Amino acid sequence: MKLTRKDFLRLSGLGLLAVVGKKAVRAITDVAPKVSARKTKRWGMVIDLAKCRQESGCSDCIRACDTAHNIPQFNDRAREVKWIWNQPFESVFPQLQTDYTKQAYAGHPIPLLCNHCANPPCVRVCPTQATWKRDEDGIVMMDWHRCIGCRYCMAACPYGSRSFNWQDPRPAIASYNPDFPTRTKGVVEKCNFCEERLARGKRPACVEACPEKTIVFGDLMDPDSEPRQLLRTRFALQREPELGTSPSVYYLV
Ligand code: SF4
Repeated sequence: MKLTRKDFLRLSGLGLLAVVGKKAVRAITDVAPKVSARKTKRWGMVIDLAKCRQESGCSDCIRACDTAHNIPQFNDRAREVKWIWNQPFESVFPQLQTDYTKQAYAGHPIPLLCNHCANPPCVRVCPTQATWKRDEDGIVMMDWHRCIGCRYCMAACPYGSRSFNWQDPRPAIASYNPDFPTRTKGVVEKCNFCEERLARGKRPACVEACPEKTIVFGDLMDPDSEPRQLLRTRFALQREPELGTSPSVYYLV
């Protein structure tokens, strides 16, 4: 049979398609089991207020976080940079304060941090994607090199979890940790759930530093994790859950 040039091109095109098609199918079937088998985590934290000693002046968790992350110490509330901080219970959970009910935690300072929300409004407003939620474990991350300092994320966060570097933070770092990057003037920062420590198989610095084992950290997707076991048996609060942000930090009361 005599083949024209057109026939030849058509047949070789079909052959190529068959080869590419086979390879593509093989590539998809190679990848599919890995994707479906991947275990997605959602890191979360449970803080037991009945055990927390911050009322008696304990700030071990805050100090450990400050040291681990080169957080500057400014004696000026307007310029402070905070990853974990204290706030009185009644200002965090005002809806739980009534005139006639027992106010067990009134006046108690309680530790606050980024909630690593499952539905984070801060991420939605960032124009440069300097902040994003990690698919594999739900941590809300920051890339300080991409941050342009617009502070939209600060306006969007209903929990005041983000701080802005109004001045160069480096001279105000009390104890420099060479293993963690410092930031510059003009960028926003916040708690990262110690993702750098998790990557080395360690727990967050605040969790390790707590003398009362008040802070428990683990995978909220795992029904056998320590946080899930506590949440099954104890009453827990989230900060302003009605906003639909779905915080990953819980407070046991
Ligand atoms: Fe974003 Fe604020 Fe939620 Fe943290 S607490 S993820 S900064 S909205």
